[in-house]
Amino acid sequence: MRRGLPTKKPIHGVKHIIAVASGKGGVGKSTLAINLALAIASFRHRVGILDADVFGPSIPRLLNLKAEPQTNEKGDLIPLANFGVKAMSMGFLVGEDLPIVMKALQQLLHQVQWGELDLLVIDMPPGTGDTQLTISQQIVLDGVVIVSTPQDIALVDARKGANMFTKVNVPILGIVQNMSVFVCPNCQHKVHIFGQNGVLKTSKEMGLDYLGDIPLDADICELSDFGTPVVVTKPDSFNAQCYKEVAKKIM
Ligand code: ADP
Repeated sequence: MRRGLPTKKPIHGVKHIIAVASGKGGVGKSTLAINLALAIASFRHRVGILDADVFGPSIPRLLNLKAEPQTNEKGDLIPLANFGVKAMSMGFLVGEDLPIVMKALQQLLHQVQWGELDLLVIDMPPGTGDTQLTISQQIVLDGVVIVSTPQDIALVDARKGANMFTKVNVPILGIVQNMSVFVCPNCQHKVHIFGQNGVLKTSKEMGLDYLGDIPLDADICELSDFGTPVVVTKPDSFNAQCYKEVAKKIM
């Protein structure tokens, strides 16, 4: 490692850490992160999710977690849990006051009592800001999954995200295409609302692995809003299978 760079640390008890990132907000990053975590937990691995989305933490809502986390005798935070996945979130700790956010981030990265985990999934904030850099430089990440819609405006930002992770030596596990196709529930007609195969094309151009496709479906959205994500609520549905396929590729 070059001198002057902060030293990367492992997280005690955690075997593997992957991040889920996107260039833009609203492309389905948190939905992917939670469904991947739940899918991997369904394969009998011990999984946690760390919600580092500073200005839009959505993991508490996605897992229907409302309680405040407790601390142990050392002052470390004890994660909450639902559906067999442990969770810690910015949303449990802070509002949007930046100095407090950066302090809370340090606490989330270094002072959580995860116990033994096979995998920790980090839900990154969108974009390429200080939080992403801090996490990439302080934590030993096994890799990052990038998610984008097939729309050009999202792909431009996804490329910027991928380039940033490459610069800080975080391996890119691949790109997931979200909201690529809407199938009309009445006539089964397929509509490519945000364009078709834009992510596949970008992944080829960038030499990155294409990890799969998640359709645009009201069920994914509604079940997320209820705090009962599709992978746990409808594990045999086509939507859940799509998330599980991605999960298998990154395990
Ligand atoms: P991000 O983390 O990128 O900001 P979210 O995961 O919060 O995005 O998703 C943004 C919105 O889109 C949420 O309302 C979510 O339920 C919805 N959403 C995400 N993926 C899908 C999908 N494949 N089909 C339908 N709705 C989705």
